[in-house]
Amino acid sequence: MASYDSPGTSLNGWHPGERAMQHKMGYDKAPGVGEMWRYIYGEMTDQHRKFHTSNLHFLPVVTLDKAGRPWSSILTGEDGTIGWITPAQRAASTLVLRPRVWEGDPFWENTDQFDARDDGEGMLIAGIGVEVSTRRRNKLAGKIKRLERNDESRKIMFDVRVDEATGNCPKYIVIRSLSPHPKTNPTVVYDHSNMSPADRLPSEVISFIQAADTIWLGSAYLVDPSSSDAKLFPSHLGINHRGGRPGWVRVKPSDGRTLVIPDYSGNRFMSSLGNIEYTPLASVLIVDFDTGDVLYLTGDAENLQGQAAEDIMPLHKSLTTLRVTGYRFLKDALPLRQKKDIEPSPYSPAIKLLKEEIELQGAHTTFFEGVGGKLPQAVLQKIDLHSPNIATFTFRSPSLSIQPGQAIILDFKALLGSPQYRHMSEGKPSLVNDDLIRTWTVSSYHPQTRGDAEGPEIQSSFQLTMKEKEGGLVTGALFSIAGGLNASKPHLLADVTPFNIEAGIVGVSGDFYLPLDEVSSETRIQAQQLFWAAGGIGLTPFLVMLRAILTSTSTDARKQSWDIVFALSTREPQVLLPLVERVFNTKPTDSSDSPAHPNVRLHLHLFTRKPVPASLTAQSSFDITTHPERLEERWFVEQKETLEGREAYVCGPAEFENLVVNSLVNAVGLEKGKVRKEGFAY
Ligand SMILES: Cc1cc2nc3c(=O)[nH]c(=O)nc-3n(C[C@H](O)[C@H](O)[C@H](O)COP(=O)(O)OP(=O)(O)OC[C@H]3O[C@@H](n4cnc5c(N)ncnc54)[C@H](O)[C@@H]3O)c2cc1C
Repeated sequence: MASYDSPGTSLNGWHPGERAMQHKMGYDKAPGVGEMWRYIYGEMTDQHRKFHTSNLHFLPVVTLDKAGRPWSSILTGEDGTIGWITPAQRAASTLVLRPRVWEGDPFWENTDQFDARDDGEGMLIAGIGVEVSTRRRNKLAGKIKRLERNDESRKIMFDVRVDEATGNCPKYIVIRSLSPHPKTNPTVVYDHSNMSPADRLPSEVISFIQAADTIWLGSAYLVDPSSSDAKLFPSHLGINHRGGRPGWVRVKPSDGRTLVIPDYSGNRFMSSLGNIEYTPLASVLIVDFDTGDVLYLTGDAENLQGQAAEDIMPLHKSLTTLRVTGYRFLKDALPLRQKKDIEPSPYSPAIKLLKEEIELQGAHTTFFEGVGGKLPQAVLQKIDLHSPNIATFTFRSPSLSIQPGQAIILDFKALLGSPQYRHMSEGKPSLVNDDLIRTWTVSSYHPQTRGDAEGPEIQSSFQLTMKEKEGGLVTGALFSIAGGLNASKPHLLADVTPFNIEAGIVGVSGDFYLPLDEVSSETRIQAQQLFWAAGGIGLTPFLVMLRAILTSTSTDARKQSWDIVFALSTREPQVLLPLVERVFNTKPTDSSDSPAHPNVRLHLHLFTRKPVPASLTAQSSFDITTHPERLEERWFVEQKETLEGREAYVCGPAEFENLVVNSLVNAVGLEKGKVRKEGFAY
């Protein structure tokens, strides 16, 4: 970021909306934030002017419509090449723009309001130049001072007098390589600039929003000219780049028109959110750089923090909602296309779903509210090291209801300290938004102890079978404790409670579980035929499902026969196979003398290129076929008859899951939607 020296700022401080937002976020107490408005210059620097005139294929801008609503637009030259923005001859802080505005872009109507006689005042505009190939970006705000339009060619020439200019950080920008695509055929698919109260966005538009990794968020700070704020903090517009992983912006299923935009850690200026805080309106522009399709949205915006945010998006403490009041959707409008390979930002955190989306998925997620702000605590009790980087961690905890295959969400701030604000983190970008909340499948079985039916239960400890993530903060810390003890005092691994290693229990989640409670005398007509596929540590949900089947005390489940074909693909057969073996030999929970479930047939297909010692398989209590190769579609072709009609569950890396699901669909003929998947990746 630049220093405080020239060209100096045109501002008189943060405006009331920005101050209110900084206060809400607690940033007003952080050193320096109160003075950072000085980084917003009153005119363009040479560097900014050069950037805007030499580097930009496109410029997202925001203007107001006749009703005073902001609309984000995207401007380009006629053929998508650079060079359509030039410096003004005699005014260093003025840019001359010569875009061609396609039909449907609200910029055209909004500039109807430009009044040449009003030249002294000008029309509000803001823009953000982003060079997407390098992540460089600069924001500008100012006024349109001169404007000429040709209604036939839809070319406009206008001057923007820039009176706010600032550089900005490259976080969340996806790197793309763009090239001009002059032959477009802009087609307005939807033009609903004024929605009625009951209107919803079409599902095509909702899918478009939920596929986007980038939005351009426009906002307005509109102050009553007669108010005391007006002199010090005059009205202006703002537009900013916001990015995340595809799907990071959600649309509420309940009304089909409210966008939920999670707020990720930024520079703490709070420019956009501050504008929204003062003037609760915003606009969003979304562009598909593959197709040239463009979506324009405007609406009523609201910032929500703390519990109010978490009530909408669990585990997220700051967000903005945009209830859309007008939208337009155009196909093939942008005269630019991206090359195939894009580079996502390493700063973008995992996406989060809305509470209502989670509930719609089947209400299998429980979040604990905690008492007095303190979550229920889990205390690490015991560590079983299976290898230097795979271990089972046993935690003591209050009673929990966990279905076999579900995951637990833990907060490790007590162990690792509350994350500190950092603007950038070159070495470890994930730190910038790291809430130290992590998820693992619970590998212990928690049968219901009351009554005969399977289901949620009461217990006071749970186990996680965990693999250390390379460079991982939480797993790194846990394995460093485990490795350290193993090297110096291995006997202590059996009881680590004195170290008081605590984690907050945030919730229990997931619908990737075996519905044992649905087994009844009616369903128990024939053997339950299952197909499981695990890639690496994706084994964990199957360990607990197997344990549940084998040790269930439910009469119905025990009378049921189970026929399981299990494909396990691993580079660590010597670690994972004994874990399966150990579970298969588990005794039922009611009596340590009774044999394991007699009606379970398990055939494990082990796919590994690593040598598998005969001792590992020779004594096995279930069938094992070893395949010294990767799992490929051809195996599914060979096994078609065996796999047909089975209930399929898959867990592993995304590539593995895709291979298994596609093979099950293509080679075996299973319905795609019927294959149940759990992704450890996020
Ligand atoms: C539903 C679910 C169940 C899971 N069950 C298990 C389990 O039973 N056993 C097990 O070993 N692991 C499981 N995982 C994965 C586990 O959550 C991660 O390994 C763990 O969060 C890593 O934390 P960390 O702090 O060590 O790594 P971090 O410090 O968070 O990460 C280090 C780097 O890896 C990236 N990263 C971390 N985790 C992931 C991930 N899951 N996907 C993509 N990138 C990632 C980060 O972005 C960062 O760049 C599960 C994940 C999910 C979502």
